[in-house]
Amino acid sequence: MHPVFGDWTPRQGQLGWIDSTMHGGVTTMISAGEVHLPGRPKDIVGLKALAITAQRAFDNFRPGGVKVLAGAPVIEKGMVESDFKELAEAGVGLLGEVGLGSVKAGYEAKEMVAWARKYGIQSTIHTGGPSIPGSGLIDKDVVLEADADVIGHINGGHTSLPEAHVCELCEKSSRAIEIVHNGNEKVAIAAAKAALELKCPHRVILGTDGPAGSGVQPLGILRMVAMLSSIANIPAELVFCFATGNTAKIRKLNCGLVEVGRAADFVFMDRAQHSPAPGLLESVQLGDIPGVGMVMIDGIVRCGRSRNTPPATEIPVVVSGAH
Ligand SMILES: [Zn+2]
Repeated sequence: MHPVFGDWTPRQGQLGWIDSTMHGGVTTMISAGEVHLPGRPKDIVGLKALAITAQRAFDNFRPGGVKVLAGAPVIEKGMVESDFKELAEAGVGLLGEVGLGSVKAGYEAKEMVAWARKYGIQSTIHTGGPSIPGSGLIDKDVVLEADADVIGHINGGHTSLPEAHVCELCEKSSRAIEIVHNGNEKVAIAAAKAALELKCPHRVILGTDGPAGSGVQPLGILRMVAMLSSIANIPAELVFCFATGNTAKIRKLNCGLVEVGRAADFVFMDRAQHSPAPGLLESVQLGDIPGVGMVMIDGIVRCGRSRNTPPATEIPVVVSGAH
């Protein structure tokens, strides 16, 4: 996703969108670049300063308790290896979508992605046609040559590459396959099916790529889960893993899996009231969005019954030791 500062996004002039997303069952959000910042600096010292500031600001401020991993610089022509070293030493752990800046050629992106990787910075590449006026096309050959850690919005954001090229990316690359809400839905289904056919469901992660021209979707991840499970006919429990454990492993998060020593980040869900399905997983496979009954982040209850999802049939009750 694309944060700016605080719980505000200028893309749709909206306040409180991160807190709203927590009500949609999201406990950690990962920046693919603070690209919507009005007047975003594109000179090298400016883009580094912005990345460090964004990383610090969201480290110090958690809307709704959500962990926002921000500070994802958009790389520009002229950057040298020492820039990546400096960013890493300053605490920057992500690159914004490669291709949103002036680095659009495969050979150039490849060199910078490798420098980033050398210093422990994870990279994501924009895939497909331009998102908004001013951005550009990144085709399959550039994606393959750049070899970023995450094939960002493989189903386009919104304009997708041809379905055959997307399937080719799944096959020829070994990198993570990010499928997003603000993309082409038909190709989203094709990409998920291709990953399963290639026996690499562990590479699939879900995102929103929001805020976007299509809006801000607090239920974006749950909508992706319901869409892939129902229309692509993938078992709901597997699709939930795309959004949780896979993301945790690929993004090296301390949450997303239930294991001793990990952060106590939980989303308690049930089938929405009056869903015709008997249980949560069956309801998702019918295409229904589940009801969130409680969200806990770092062991603290951040919300009870969600204000955004359809109401859950059963919700958890805190019986003792409440904060
Ligand atoms: Zn993009």
